[in-house]
Amino acid sequence: MEKDNVCINCYEMLDKIAGKLGLSEPETGLLSRPRRSYTFSFPVIMDDSKVKIFTGYRIQFNNARGPTKGGIRFHPEVDLEEIKTLAFLMTLKCAVINVPFGGAKGGVVVNPKKHSKGEMERISRAYMRELYRFIGPNTDIPAPDVNTNPQVMAWMLDEYERVTGQHAPGVITGKPLELGGSHVRGISTSLGGYFVLKEVLKQFGMKEENTKAVVQGFGNAGMNIAKILHKNKFKVIAVSDSRGGIYDENGLQIEKVIEHKEDKKSVQDFANAKNIANEELLELECDVLVLAALEDQITKENAGKVKAKMILELANRPIMPEADEILASRTVPVIPDILANAGGVVVSYFEWVQNATNYYWTEDYVLKKLEEYMTKAAKELEMACSSYKCIMREGLYISAINKILQAERLRGVLK
Ligand code: NAD
Repeated sequence: MEKDNVCINCYEMLDKIAGKLGLSEPETGLLSRPRRSYTFSFPVIMDDSKVKIFTGYRIQFNNARGPTKGGIRFHPEVDLEEIKTLAFLMTLKCAVINVPFGGAKGGVVVNPKKHSKGEMERISRAYMRELYRFIGPNTDIPAPDVNTNPQVMAWMLDEYERVTGQHAPGVITGKPLELGGSHVRGISTSLGGYFVLKEVLKQFGMKEENTKAVVQGFGNAGMNIAKILHKNKFKVIAVSDSRGGIYDENGLQIEKVIEHKEDKKSVQDFANAKNIANEELLELECDVLVLAALEDQITKENAGKVKAKMILELANRPIMPEADEILASRTVPVIPDILANAGGVVVSYFEWVQNATNYYWTEDYVLKKLEEYMTKAAKELEMACSSYKCIMREGLYISAINKILQAERLRGVLK
């Protein structure tokens, strides 16, 4: 396998699994290279009437199990390599969670904080004008990711429908409810993570009540899981955002922390809690550490200092491979991102099904089906880990890779 096909983290894991499963060269080739990769340069008129050229990407990694599916990220440092890695992980995620999709990912190199709402709308629409001919409800279905939201999806849907002249709500998920979105989508990632955690705690003989949780990151994923854990009687003893963290050994009143964050734009300086540094939060003694901020947060430098009994990776790739090994040698179980944060993809799938049938589900029904999908995947994971005698990340990769390769074989793509 060539090292630049997917990022080094995934490459190493893929290599290990390829050895373990005895995969052939065409099999590893299919798993390590994207089927299609697009780079776009597009002009957008700014508020001061000057024209700025933006770069956007879309990778359709593998479509053996169904149309490709994956979010669109707006970030100043996004690049093709990162998008490729995330598209690969989406391919695994859809297989792990048993939804009939392949994997994709997209991105635009832009810092949304530096643009007005009008500029963001024009950037979103211009990106879609480049992308539209390569996507569709049965081809490739984008969704929100970091710095994109239901409003951005609504602009992109509208642009897609204008240029194609069709009503096609199923071309994009994560839309507002009024435009064919699904109930629960806003909290689906966090709720899905909670359902998986609930099942894994059960497998480890641990109870939810008074389980001490620490949450890194207080954005969409982190804030919602803190809220859900608190509601389900976990003791959330610390949370953090980019400016720093707060700690209260008796458990934080999360609703109040949310109000405080809305008011002060940071969780820090919350009444009756102690301010702590971001690095300190990762080393707190607790039962569950939820990583819900960014990539590469647990490194070989701090992995040895983590005192959590279990880690839930709600963010994508928050643990570096060397750190993963250190945690495994210390027998700290890690519930990997491709399962832990797959709730968003599951509800995206439900949204797509609702769009295709023009029949819309109730909130209770979506909640019930989400729990069903997440719990089933967590049970399958336990089976994969016990049959292959491996840690959870390896078990998930093995189970996903087996499903993808089986689909390729049935299509006659592989022998
Ligand atoms: P977000 O931008 O809403 O929130 C990120 C949060 O992390 C912010 O509160 C930010 O202040 C905080 N943060 C940044 N650096 C930090 C640091 N060093 N220490 C502590 N906090 C820090 O993003 P999000 O949507 O919540 O996504 C977070 C992660 O979850 C990303 O990796 C994303 O890919 C992944 N994810 C999110 C979703 C979703 O539906 N939101 C779905 C799948 C995966």
